[in-house]
Amino acid sequence: MSYPVGPVSASDRDRFAVGWHSFGMDERTGPNGGTLYLSAESEKGNKGPFQVVYADDEATRRWGFFCSNCESFDNAVDSMGRIQCNRCSNFHKAEEWDAAHE
Ligand SMILES: [Zn+2]
Repeated sequence: MSYPVGPVSASDRDRFAVGWHSFGMDERTGPNGGTLYLSAESEKGNKGPFQVVYADDEATRRWGFFCSNCESFDNAVDSMGRIQCNRCSNFHKAEEWDAAHE
């Protein structure tokens, strides 16, 4: 599977739409009015996954996390890697060493 590299035109984006969506970059308007991109990567939370958010559609600038439970960008990450949603209290614990964790 390969994806277009660098700037792509709108028609290229349509042509690659299936691959684009399986790549998982879902556009959203962020809290500051800018466009943010939700990746398919996620960290599990006790109420739902936190999706990794990028500030660009090539996933080079990591922005933060998106709470999929209440659809909010309003969450806090601490230095231990814990994530907590400020709205619905969805919570991701720091690294777990069980087999279920990827
Ligand atoms: Zn939430």
